[in-house]
Amino acid sequence: MSERDPVFDILFEPVRIGPVTARNRFYQVPHCNGMGERQPRGMAAMRGIKAEGGWAVVSTEEVEIDHTTDFTPAIEGRMWDESDIPYHARMVDAVHEHGSLAAIELCQQGIACANHASRVPPMGPSAQALVSFAPVQGYEMDLSDIREVRRSHRTSALLAKRAGYDIVYVYAGHDLSVAQHFLLPRYNKRRDEYGGALENRVRLLRELIEDTKDAVGDTCAVAVRLAVDELLGPDGMLAEGEAPEVITILADLPDLWDVNISDWKNDSQTARFAEEGYQERYIQFVKSLTTKPVVGVGRYTSPDRMAKLVANGTLDFIGAARPSIADPFLPQKIKEGRIEEIRECIGCNICVSGDMTYSPIRCTQNPTMGEEWRKGWHPEQIAPASSKDSVLVVGGGPAGLECARALGQRGYDVILAEASEAFGGRICGESKLPGMASYRRVVEHRLDAFTKLANVETYLASELDADAVAALGADHVVIATGAHWRLDGMGRHQRYPMDMEDGGLAVFTPDDIMAGNVPAVGSVLIYDDDGYLMAGLIAEALAAMGLETELMTPYTMVSPWTENTLEQPAIQRRVLEVGVTVTVGRRLLAIEGVARHACVYTGEEQESAHSAIVLVTSRTSNDDLWLDLRERSEAPWHSLTRIGDALAPATVAHAVYAGHRYAREFEATPITGVPYKRERVVV
Ligand code: ADP
Ligand code: SF4
Repeated sequence: MSERDPVFDILFEPVRIGPVTARNRFYQVPHCNGMGERQPRGMAAMRGIKAEGGWAVVSTEEVEIDHTTDFTPAIEGRMWDESDIPYHARMVDAVHEHGSLAAIELCQQGIACANHASRVPPMGPSAQALVSFAPVQGYEMDLSDIREVRRSHRTSALLAKRAGYDIVYVYAGHDLSVAQHFLLPRYNKRRDEYGGALENRVRLLRELIEDTKDAVGDTCAVAVRLAVDELLGPDGMLAEGEAPEVITILADLPDLWDVNISDWKNDSQTARFAEEGYQERYIQFVKSLTTKPVVGVGRYTSPDRMAKLVANGTLDFIGAARPSIADPFLPQKIKEGRIEEIRECIGCNICVSGDMTYSPIRCTQNPTMGEEWRKGWHPEQIAPASSKDSVLVVGGGPAGLECARALGQRGYDVILAEASEAFGGRICGESKLPGMASYRRVVEHRLDAFTKLANVETYLASELDADAVAALGADHVVIATGAHWRLDGMGRHQRYPMDMEDGGLAVFTPDDIMAGNVPAVGSVLIYDDDGYLMAGLIAEALAAMGLETELMTPYTMVSPWTENTLEQPAIQRRVLEVGVTVTVGRRLLAIEGVARHACVYTGEEQESAHSAIVLVTSRTSNDDLWLDLRERSEAPWHSLTRIGDALAPATVAHAVYAGHRYAREFEATPITGVPYKRERVVV
């Protein structure tokens, strides 16, 4: 084992939080996971793995205190009554088993949730439209409503204590909390003792802290999660405005301050829009106003930076959601001096998309995330090889790299052959697009692992055909040859090749642009039928080169799927800021010297003149080699499998997962039926 640099010792000091003590300074702040109370075994196992990996505090997601704050359809936690205790206790036990503290984030969302399932009218400081989008309004809470929220919060805190939690949160963040809504003049128009001056607007938050301390403070620490800035200027909470006053008023009342910026899209910014440590300038002031420990986040993956933040008095705890998802063993790796083994978060927010699509959390870097219980996958452990068979992996993109790495970890002899001069596949090009450099981490983490795996042989500049594959004589062949962007316009809105006439209008795909084959001059139309990142990236890149750029899409906004990664507003803002003309709700019909397109609603047709078109419609698998190999009747291999984009083009996360899954299931007992354990409501 390598020696730990003493500079990191500071990260392993125990820290007292009220009546409890955290064994080190690594703190997994609350985060959603798409499993919650609906798949509680999965959620509990995932949290337990974090504790095993060294996170001294492991928190839940948001937990509803009762039916008046029903987050449906979001899948979060519930602490409504004692029937909820057993599932929470399961998580608490999983966390305690490894000597960590379990924290629960109790939440009353006020006017942030529509109560779709409970059908109770939402309530808030004043009567108004909801923060979430629904044809429902919230009513103004009277003093009895306020008393009821306090009573319910107190009851949930007591239940949390019975479940075994060590830390109970009072939540005032993400624009998702009634206590936060009372703080903010844009929501709070009251004239009673809960409205007007800040001392009044802070009253509910103070009461909830006091109630919680009174109820459970003898054995549980009481934490406050406060959004200290909303990036709304004077319309919102400001780190250089009222936030220091709030902290001054409450100062040492809670046992811990967990501070961040709001709303969720600001708190969880992607690497494309924010660097590691992007919240520091907003939260820096907090420690000077309280003697209580402070936790903050900022997608921290650099141990040097973490140690510095503690040493220079910015933070007491290094908070993390995403870095703990990408590498649940991050603390352990720092502790043992294995820094180069950290699987660094790339800031892509695919993890967030699990919550947004109501499905179990997944991660681009960590394919085991969300599979801890239902498939029994551990992020650091994998079954050893069960034979001496060899595997040839063709294609060194995310799927091939992870497949070779995980097979190598199992102890199999692996040959990884890549046609080009560099490993990385699609990431080689995509990581050069604006703001996408962090995707290189997917490649680097795997290449670094190879340096310790003598049983994995890697070859660049090795484009294999069927004869070459046969000549290598591997027992098993994996085809991970990826995909390329279509040039024929087929996509979601176009199910046949598009009509195209040669008329001086040059047609490109994103692969051309990434390879440096870029329209020289003139106006470029980027047509996006894909809906994820690519069209926005290409538009931004071409506009930066000084080209006149228009982005046209049949959707109602730029890059609509990125609503699931919380990036959509930032992407649309970025393309507008760099001068791209955005045309929504139009479908490209044909390329006939000009672009012919129609309104998706009325069918009204128009033509527009451009010098070039970039078609961002869909991708097609590179399956020639697979088809050739499949035809070989006297194949020397025992199995031939295609994975990743070579089978079905998708995200980088899907490709990494596919590679990992192949390695996990290789020579394991074949799975019939549902390939994972299910959680059911027992009737
Ligand atoms: P995925 O996301 O599924 O990993 P990528 O497109 O990112 O797919 O990567 C596929 C990789 O496979 C590319 O780097 C490509 O150069 C490589 N490749 C494609 N065909 C061959 C081949 N016949 N021999 C070796 N490598 C290949
Ligand atoms: Fe980080 Fe992306 Fe994994 Fe989320 S999905 S933890 S952002 S690497």
